Amino acid sequence: MSPTELSADLVHTIESDRTSLSKDSFKRAFLDNLFYTQGKFLQVATHMDYYLALAYTVRDRLLYRWVSTATAYTDHASRTVSYLSAEFLMGPSLGNNLINLGILEEVRQAIAELGLDLNDLLDQEAEPGLGNGGLGRLAACFIDSLATLELPALGYGIRYEHGIFYQTLRDGWQVENTDNWLRYGNPWEIRRPEWSVEVKLGGYTETYTDAEDRHRVRWVPAKTVVGVPFDSPILGYRVNTANTLRLWSAEATQSFDFEIFNRGDYMGAVNKKVTSENLSKILYPNDETPQGKELRLEQQYFFVACSLQDMFRILQGQGVSIERFHEKFAVQLNDTHPAIGVAELMRILVDDYVLPWNDAWSITTRTFGYTNHTLLPEALERWPLELFRRVLPRHLEIIFEINDRFLHDVRIAFLGDDAKVRALSLIDESGERYVRMAHLASVGSHAINGVATLHSELLKKDVLADFHALWPHKFYSVTNGVTPRRWLALANPRLSELLHDTIGDGWIRDLDRLRELEAYADDPAFGARWREIKRANKVQLAELIAKRTGIEVNPDSLFDVQVKRIHEYKRQHLAVLQVIAMYHRLKSNPSAEILPRTFLFSGKAAPGYFMAKLMIRLITAVGDVINYDPEVRGRLKVVFMPNFSVTTGQRIYPGADLSEQISLAGKEASGTGNMKFAMNGALTIGTMDGANIEICEEVGAENFFTFGMTAEEVDARRRAGYDPRAVVESNPELYAVVELIRNGLFSRGDTELFRPIVDHLLTHDTYMLAADYASYSACQYEVDEAYRDVARWTRMSVLNVARSGRFSSDRSIDEYAGKIWKISPVSVPLL
Ligand SMILES: *Cc1c(COP(=O)(O)O)cnc(C)c1O
Repeated sequence: MSPTELSADLVHTIESDRTSLSKDSFKRAFLDNLFYTQGKFLQVATHMDYYLALAYTVRDRLLYRWVSTATAYTDHASRTVSYLSAEFLMGPSLGNNLINLGILEEVRQAIAELGLDLNDLLDQEAEPGLGNGGLGRLAACFIDSLATLELPALGYGIRYEHGIFYQTLRDGWQVENTDNWLRYGNPWEIRRPEWSVEVKLGGYTETYTDAEDRHRVRWVPAKTVVGVPFDSPILGYRVNTANTLRLWSAEATQSFDFEIFNRGDYMGAVNKKVTSENLSKILYPNDETPQGKELRLEQQYFFVACSLQDMFRILQGQGVSIERFHEKFAVQLNDTHPAIGVAELMRILVDDYVLPWNDAWSITTRTFGYTNHTLLPEALERWPLELFRRVLPRHLEIIFEINDRFLHDVRIAFLGDDAKVRALSLIDESGERYVRMAHLASVGSHAINGVATLHSELLKKDVLADFHALWPHKFYSVTNGVTPRRWLALANPRLSELLHDTIGDGWIRDLDRLRELEAYADDPAFGARWREIKRANKVQLAELIAKRTGIEVNPDSLFDVQVKRIHEYKRQHLAVLQVIAMYHRLKSNPSAEILPRTFLFSGKAAPGYFMAKLMIRLITAVGDVINYDPEVRGRLKVVFMPNFSVTTGQRIYPGADLSEQISLAGKEASGTGNMKFAMNGALTIGTMDGANIEICEEVGAENFFTFGMTAEEVDARRRAGYDPRAVVESNPELYAVVELIRNGLFSRGDTELFRPIVDHLLTHDTYMLAADYASYSACQYEVDEAYRDVARWTRMSVLNVARSGRFSSDRSIDEYAGKIWKISPVSVPLL
């Protein structure tokens, strides 16, 4: 029987049975996988074996939907989104897939009947930490929402062998440990060597005349590496759509370079293989300040070149002509890391397919959309020209050509304005010459968007103002969101159950349905359950804190939480000053009425970021004093929880009472942690920055604690001349806090340790902590007052959840699909 005779009916009969969701079929498959995949039996199997057997059982059910999806997409020749992102911070897959299949509770039951606890198995899964923080997590939420909205999409990225480092503490300092997430294998991925592609790097270019007498350019690379795709199915919530996350791994073209090998240099030959494989070896742990490292540029080009070749393969497989590339694919650039794609697509179209430049440019600009993620000037990626030429000689020529043509238009648009030409150029020529990746992305895309309303406005006014003057029609704003599947249904099962009992399950797919909770905001019985749930989550979080840090915290204290990357602009420092002030208040007046609080911090610092690492040391040092001072026992605790990750986040957000979102206004593009907290019933104390503004608007100012300067006030204050020392000296509370640090209370008398922090605060205070301190401190009193009024706090918390619908990534993706990608859902029938 030939494969084509394998009729759809037969496939259905065989597969729908083998991968049925019924409990019996599931148990049977689980045991099959334990025996025949893991080669274990019940008496000797470890929890890891059980986890893997379960993961394979779930994966089979995903694969059935995946094949069905691929079939539907091929039949429809669907327009597809390619989401290009150097980072995908996915978090563990098992629980999420069970939620999306709609069988979490059934599987819990089936597993229990085999004498196992599902939670123990869920705990076995290593987290694929293939991202630094918000940006990578956004990509993960988006890929979930794309599938849930039944939109044809491919996520393209890098399969780093080592993801973000695992953080531990030694003597209160951050220590980075290598992450080994692949140690036990990754059951969710499928290696696809048949779709491997070759990627060139380095070398030089030469011109020649081809057989048809055309003038052409040939790129003669110094080396070639192979990109091997690893695919993971991404299932939408309660739909049959299973999209693909395709991550590229770098391999050597041959295991050995036989030429070197034959010369007798065995180690040299092996070394060359190792060098090629270095490309996808490790994720750069930089956050907000990219380093101009050659390997990083190579990584970026590597995954973009692999992904574009893959799209051409798909295009050709469907018999679509090259000229219609932009009709088949909408390619979204998640920040500038994949921006080299603009030059690469031009190179393919012009050099390989010999399209006229203007035709190629039209296809390219209609293909790409660019999402900007930062307002920090130091975070805008740029590459020294010489480095760029060394790695990508042909692309540099293409960028020069793009720039020539672009600057010609600029000269005509801004007649005689040479400053504009210099400001807009793709090449920064103010000193050492650089390629400006944000400019390449902006010129090469038809859509440029910011990730929150304020951020998009500031882009137009500031970072990309000249581009906005040129092309106002290119600018969009799409406020970020987070997936309610992972961040509510999975992370907060207790709250989900209450929601289920109260308003049903519609909210999981349509988060606006949470509005129905407003009717219960003042219902005492509902409020009591609400508080029980928060308390149970806090008890569970307290257990995790004790396990990870040995610190006992009181679940009846207010859990005041700041978790995110450690960075000066996010102002962990401001929160610490406030903690010390509270401690000082208690010490000065031991009988002071103070609301018991637990301050929880967590987050990684970039390994080369001195001030961020010192900040961690200050937090642990403050904890070491306060937590062991008998006079404040039961009233104040300060915890630094090591290794913030998606997994720990899932335990932390649901257990928080207060969410600290205190960046200097105008610095945080959006934030998404703020959304996860609100969705889980924490109230926010925050500045008018990023998406905080929109959260405050949605939940109502009376249910949100705002403080500090607005972005405009920040500008005005700076223009007026900002003197932080004067501000500190005029505020007795703040002055006292600074003195305590300076005099070595938190460093056993060492007055040097924290001097850089104190000095910076008094001299530069780049992120204007001093200017916002008084307002922050006053606002914390309001928090105390609100928390003491149990009914009021409960009502505020309920309303935060009820009004968080806008912050679902489903809403974000719906906006991208309609405004930028022009793409529609394809419903997938099971085969
Ligand atoms: C959500 C999330 C972030 C982003 O947090 P912000 O508060 O928006 O900076 C970073 N890391 C992880 C693991 C997350 O889950």
